[in-house]
Amino acid sequence: MRKKIVAGNWKMNKTSEEAKALLSEVINMVKDEVTGDVEVVLCPPALYLATARQYVTAGGKVALGAQNCHEKASGAYTGEISAPMLQSIGVEYVILGHSERRQYFNETNAQLAEKVNVALENGLKPIFCCGESRDLRENGDFIGFVKDQITESLFHLSAESFANIVIAYEPIWAIGTGLTASSAQAQDMHFELRQHIASQYGDTVAQDTTILYGGSANAQNAEELFARPDVDGGLIGGASLKSRDFLTVVKAAQ
Ligand code: 13P
Repeated sequence: MRKKIVAGNWKMNKTSEEAKALLSEVINMVKDEVTGDVEVVLCPPALYLATARQYVTAGGKVALGAQNCHEKASGAYTGEISAPMLQSIGVEYVILGHSERRQYFNETNAQLAEKVNVALENGLKPIFCCGESRDLRENGDFIGFVKDQITESLFHLSAESFANIVIAYEPIWAIGTGLTASSAQAQDMHFELRQHIASQYGDTVAQDTTILYGGSANAQNAEELFARPDVDGGLIGGASLKSRDFLTVVKAAQ
């Protein structure tokens, strides 16, 4: 059985005090209210991960994720953060290939393959983001485009390594726009991606791969999205910044 996951990507939001307040609210709510089988991953800005670690009790339902890591394990890369550093403070996941990083920091599929490698070598589980632009959705082979992102950044992995990958399908046109993909659109793409994974790694690996949806998922629409058979949870931006909204999304995945 594949894992259900709801991850909160805080992006570049919250001061230190605000971050601590949100962390403790979410962690307490998860402890009190989440009874089902869903893993909650909080991805605050890297600056707060070490503090966040103190809020997350070992073995609990809440894990920590970073929003990015560098493709090298160490070295003269001023301002960057490496996978071994993240691992050394108890971070378990790392978001890689978010469309904002592809767009604003020019991350390429080849570079992301390197990031995936260094993350896995250091025991981090990548949440690998993929997704098409609005223009491609309307005028192009958007399914082929997203499959290629996965092929080029992930299909060099062995089946054993691939088992540590979480996929997040995030159509760019739905991110931060309030324009959610319909649950049918999400399901169709998730189904295609699972088939694509099966073509490389076989049915068992594909069935065990968690595929999250991201893009204006919120307290109102999460239940419908997560009811689809190939939607295994969400990668949540805006709605992860308010504890009650985020908890509603988490509970929709149980
Ligand atoms: P929103 O939920 O704010 O649309 O952001 C989605 C996202 O990019 C999560 O990584």
